[in-house]
Formats: sequence, C-alpha cells, structure tokens
Amino acid sequence: MIATRQPDLEAIIRGVRAGERSWLARAITLVESRAVHHRKAAQQLMQAILPHSGGALRIGLTGVPGAGKSTFIEALGMMLCNRGHKVAVLAVDPSSSRTGGSILGDKTRMESLCSHPNAFIRPSPSGNSLGGVAARTREALLLCEAAGYDVILVETVGVGQSETAVRTMTDFFMLLQIAGAGDELQGIKKGVIELADAIIVNKADGENKLRARQARVDYARVLHFLDPFTPGWKPKALTCSALASQGIDEAWDLVLKFRDEMEKSGVFNARRREQNVDWFESLLNQAVIERFKEANKDQILRIEDAVAHGTMPVSMALDQLLNR
Ligand code: GDP
Repeated sequence: MIATRQPDLEAIIRGVRAGERSWLARAITLVESRAVHHRKAAQQLMQAILPHSGGALRIGLTGVPGAGKSTFIEALGMMLCNRGHKVAVLAVDPSSSRTGGSILGDKTRMESLCSHPNAFIRPSPSGNSLGGVAARTREALLLCEAAGYDVILVETVGVGQSETAVRTMTDFFMLLQIAGAGDELQGIKKGVIELADAIIVNKADGENKLRARQARVDYARVLHFLDPFTPGWKPKALTCSALASQGIDEAWDLVLKFRDEMEKSGVFNARRREQNVDWFESLLNQAVIERFKEANKDQILRIEDAVAHGTMPVSMALDQLLNR
C-alpha cells in the first residue's frame, strides 16, 4: 500500500539532474507536500541534490502590485534566456492561499517567458505561514540550481514581511519602484529600501520619463544616507522601461558587477554560509515550538484559561509550563 504512494525518488533525481522541467516540477511538488509519508522522500531528495546546488545567481525582486514586476521579469528573463542562460522564476506570496490567487499563478503573466525552453516558472507554494512558504521556496531554489538553472529570480509583493524572507535567500535584492505623484517613497516602507542592493525606477518611458529620472535622483540621495545592507556595496538607483525593454541590460550589468565585487571581497560566499545557518535556525525554532506545543497541548489549554480569567499571572504561567 505505502509503496505505491511513494514517489519514484531515483527517477525524480535523475530527471532533475538532467534538467527536465517536468521532473523539476514533480520534485518541487514533493518538497512542497506536507503529507507525512512524503517527508522522508523529500529529505532524501534534498540530500541527493544538495551537492549540485549553489551554482546560480539568486536575485530577489520586490515592488508594490502594478510596479511592473512581471513585465520586468519577462524582459530580463527573455534577454537572459536568449543569451543562453537558464532562468527560473519563483515567488513568495504567503497571502496566495487566502486570496485564492497567487502571484505567478496567473497564466497571462510572462507569456513569452513561460514558453521559452530555457525558462522555468513556478508560482508561490501555498500556506499562511511565511516561514513555511519561505522554507519551501528555498528548497525549490536549490532544486532549480541542481537542474542547471543559473539565474534564479524570486519575486515577492512589496507589502508585509515577505521581503525580509526573500532577502535571506538571495544574493542580490532589487526594489522595483515607479515615480509617484509627489511622494516618491509612497507605498513602500523605508525598511524595504534598507534591504535593497538596487532600486530600479520602472516605467521610464513616454511622458513619464522625466519624472522617473527625477525619482531616480531622489532615491539615489536616500540610498546615499543609508547604511548599505551588503557590506562594501553602495546600493544604486537606475531607471528602466520594462515594457520597452530599455535599461534592462544596465540592470543586469549592475547585478554582474555586484557579484564580481562581492566574490572578490568574500562577502558573497560568507553571506551564503550565514544564510544557510539562519535558515537552519529558523526551522529549528519553528520545529521546537511546534513540538513543545504539541507535547504540552492540554497543559497549555488549562494555563491559557487561567490567564484569560485573570487567575494566574502570565509570568507564573510561563514558569509553570517551562519547568515541566
Ligand atoms: P506587477 O503587479 O508588479 O507584476 O506589475 P505588472 O508587470 O503586471 O505591470 C502592471 C502594469 O504596468 C501593466 O499594465 C504593465 O503593462 C504596465 N507596465 C509594466 N512595466 C511598464 C513600463 O516599463 N512602462 C509602462 N508604460 N508600463 C509598464
């Protein structure tokens, strides 16, 4: 019975290593599965592909809805695929299961890139917990690398905490902005600007060109006064028109310059090592909390009731629970 439900791991590993998209998709589905009987196979799969991962340039991309993220990814992705790169596009969108929709889920986005043989596009895994969604995206990213993808774009919407999660799994993080009416920083939190290695002002075309250029100057000034997120790298502001495929080359050149300089300074690899440890720690924290709560379910309920009715101080409740 069980054997029939177990995926054919050997075939999946072979398929991923051969760079076949259908096998890659199956592998990602396996690591995204929360079914208990898939967990062991998923772990074995990750262990088998781990030595073959790490080879891609990992780029995070954020921006408010409508900033032009999918148009930008399509323009950049097509340019890179046509140059022989293999480009994977992933997304982190913890709201997708609540709203029913998902960034990247909409088939009308990135139409040309979707059908390019060098591209692989995967919508956000579903789930309400950002930690869970991010962990599964991280594993998908490693699988894409093992399948030979050398540029990985991880998209997220510019609202909430998901930018931080994407920042922790990528090498280069870019914020796509549009020139606002007056307040250039409108709609995006200052904290997100602080994470960015580059701010790209999109829609620099037609009548909007001048405003976009002005916005670029304003952002460059803001960036100048912030501590860079990546040690030794001064974040840059650029303009582009994703729709007209202008300025995409320059954005890519900047990413390459970043990699070059950060590899030389050692920051690139040091950060990846740190990211691995942080990832492990966050999974550990999550697992420990879940197991503790499960093991002490009844006791927690009783204590919560006492706390709710004001018959036990919170600090005493905590001590009682932890001293068990
Ligand atoms: P996303 O929600 O951030 O993924 O944004 P989309 O890529 O879906 O773009 C939102 C809208 O802006 C669409 O109507 C695009 O055609 C338009 N758009 C995107 N990039 C540009 C650009 O460079 N110039 C202009 N004029 N419009 C753009």
